[in-house]
Amino acid sequence: MSLELRSINVAFGGFKAIDDVTISLKKAEIAGLIGPNGAGKTTCVNVITGFQDPSSGTVTLDGESITGKAPHDIRRRGLARTFQAGRLFTGLDVLDNLAVTGVGLGHSRRASEDEAMRLLDWMGVAHLAELPAAGLPYTDERRVGIARALMFAPDFLLLDEPAAGMSEKEADDLARIIRRIADELECGVLLIEHNVGLVLSLSNHVYVLDAGKIIEEGDKAAILGSQAVREAYLGA
Ligand code: ADP
Repeated sequence: MSLELRSINVAFGGFKAIDDVTISLKKAEIAGLIGPNGAGKTTCVNVITGFQDPSSGTVTLDGESITGKAPHDIRRRGLARTFQAGRLFTGLDVLDNLAVTGVGLGHSRRASEDEAMRLLDWMGVAHLAELPAAGLPYTDERRVGIARALMFAPDFLLLDEPAAGMSEKEADDLARIIRRIADELECGVLLIEHNVGLVLSLSNHVYVLDAGKIIEEGDKAAILGSQAVREAYLGA
């Protein structure tokens, strides 16, 4: 089972936001996508999740093209995402935020609530179940957002800046959860993050984007040893 982007290009007018990007991720693996601001990370996420059609290239899930499919269709095929801002339903409590996803997938109310509770417990946030989603502390909101994405029982999960605004301790807790998502749920994780240390420590394989192009890829040692990466980040 794998998620593959092959030679993806995205142009906005004459401007190439994504230039011939190829990325591959297997089930139960963690891949990192890093790069300076404006590198094209969000555009990549949007292409994979069906929010942006590429100008050319293909995205395949388990060998089947999902290029240009609608976001809900891509989710149904086993690829879930989180958003930078939690995007929880603020009028609902935490449990219902997850349960409505299960109901939307055609499961009974009871089964959806059971699964929601099981996932909140698995994430270590069962104590939040009955709290209103509005006004949750930032880190709790993030964890609930991830739990909600897991309601889709995805084969692949895209995490868009999950550690943004977190302290080092909170980011460490998040790292443990991401590791468990890959190991215990055998879910492939694509991690898009500004926290380069977090990405390098967790990922089997890291892709570095700069000005729309993959300028380096490999394990932690390869990225840390790369002159191209140093230049992209430090201009030196
Ligand atoms: P990152 O997430 O790495 O900061 P983005 O994917 O947001 O980068 O943006 C990559 C480049 O594409 C930026 O120069 C951005 O201004 C441009 N861009 C992104 N979305 C659009 C759009 N809808 N229309 C025009 N330009 C865009």
